[in-house]
Amino acid sequence: MAFEGLSGKLNQVFKKLKSHGKLTESDVKEAMREVRMALLEADVSYKVVKDFVKKVSERAVGEEVLSSLTPAQQVIKIVNEELCNLMGNENARIQFPSKPPCVIMMCGLQGSGKTTHSAKLAKMLKKEGHYPLLVACDIYRPAAINQLQVVGERAGVKVFEMGQIDPRIIAKEALRFAKDHGNDVVILDTAGRLHIDTELMDELKDLKELTNPNEIMLVVDAMTGQDAVNVAKAFDDALGIDSVLMSKLDSDTRGGAALSVLAVTGKPIKYVGMGEKLDEFEQFHPQRMASRILG
Ligand code: GDP
Repeated sequence: MAFEGLSGKLNQVFKKLKSHGKLTESDVKEAMREVRMALLEADVSYKVVKDFVKKVSERAVGEEVLSSLTPAQQVIKIVNEELCNLMGNENARIQFPSKPPCVIMMCGLQGSGKTTHSAKLAKMLKKEGHYPLLVACDIYRPAAINQLQVVGERAGVKVFEMGQIDPRIIAKEALRFAKDHGNDVVILDTAGRLHIDTELMDELKDLKELTNPNEIMLVVDAMTGQDAVNVAKAFDDALGIDSVLMSKLDSDTRGGAALSVLAVTGKPIKYVGMGEKLDEFEQFHPQRMASRILG
């Protein structure tokens, strides 16, 4: 990742500067150029980078930092803190309602990793003591139902499917099934498209109205970079989402999209996927991501 080594670069900048005396505002400026470049290279949106650098600079030119014996460490600490602030600072979790079932609606474009991650999430929640039900609402590709059954079996989670009929009916029946069978979590694997279109959104809006989900989680592919952020914004504007799940962080993507999601949509990333295997999945830790970025 091009991101890696940002702390190393900052250290170098400051070392060079320190050799000729006390740090000045313009020295900090040079360091901020490195930060700006690293973030832009990592596909973080321009506006987010601009605001970020401004915030860090304001804090970094403070007296304490300039007169410090370890200015590089101080600035790295500030960069690290502000990266965490940008991503939400704490681990956002799913809120379970007092009255089950908790309905989680998984949305995303085709190929984003929605079906795989519905199963990953189900497996994790099962491990945490829940009794999830996976629901096949992606009815347009016959293979999608089959695929959910395969990953559901791997996760050890029941998959509810009714073939290629109206997903509104499937969702309703699935909720009834969950009540009858004591499932406290219902995960709807909804249909994706190659592009966001009104037909897709209308269907998702109907499902939202029908199932009153506790969580609408959007799966975005980290490999698509800035596009992942644009997709999140479009889904949030049209449907309203609660959170983002970022898939494919195992790829050699720079991961900059993770930095922009909260700033652009106001919605946190709650989970990340790092592979095709069902265990390659974890809660999103802003601090871990910041460390990965800082290198
Ligand atoms: P959907 O169309 O959104 O339901 O996407 P799928 O779950 O079918 O995933 C699309 C492709 O991406 C499949 O080949 C998955 O195996 C693969 N995939 C899903 N998640 C990940 C991930 O986190 N990392 C990698 N490397 N591949 C993934």
